[in-house]
Amino acid sequence: MAKGLRLVLFGPPGAGKGTQTRLLSGHLEVQAISTGDLFRSNLQRQTPLGLRASEYMNQGILVPDEVTIDIVLEKVMSLNSDDGFILDGFPRNPIQASALEEALDRRSRPVDLVIFIDVPDEELVRRLGGRLMCRNCQTPYTMEEDGQPEGAANRVCDSCGGDLYQRDDDSPAAVSKRIEVYHSETLPVLDFYRDKGLLARVDGVAAVEKVHNRVLKQIQRVSKTEDRE
Ligand SMILES: [Zn+2]
Repeated sequence: MAKGLRLVLFGPPGAGKGTQTRLLSGHLEVQAISTGDLFRSNLQRQTPLGLRASEYMNQGILVPDEVTIDIVLEKVMSLNSDDGFILDGFPRNPIQASALEEALDRRSRPVDLVIFIDVPDEELVRRLGGRLMCRNCQTPYTMEEDGQPEGAANRVCDSCGGDLYQRDDDSPAAVSKRIEVYHSETLPVLDFYRDKGLLARVDGVAAVEKVHNRVLKQIQRVSKTEDRE
């Protein structure tokens, strides 16, 4: 079922989009396209787009939409038009959403569904503020109430032995700023897709597996509709 679905996983920072995208891409056997991974790989390979992005990043400036759009669309358009994909971390604002729509319309292969993983702000603050990351393999860990990361003793990564740290991005001030930016810039993307009838909301406050099942339920709806056609 659901072969070739084109999906967007949408939600605030800390909603678990990355984890849900990985689970879903395994389940549906479609490619996950994460903006973060694309940036990293373009930077590592020093592609022209990666070099453009690094000029901004080195100055601590937000990478402009045109560069982000080029990086993501280059990847999306490199797929066969009947291949499915799951976008994680894109579109981040209505300008990016329009650019994606335009590109997919050229192939007559629009987005099938946008899944909104909804998590209230207080929960996001709790999650992001309690997050540690492995310096080496980037695995995220959650700090428990005693200040120790879950599943990793002595702040050492369970999978690679790397050292766990709190990213600057996850400091209390940075967390409130990220949530604020999400509300002002990213949330309007929801209206964009709601108007097109593509939005499915999932309650993101639950264990990872449970949220995954909720996501699957929403997807089964669209794939059933398509099977009938
Ligand atoms: Zn590690």
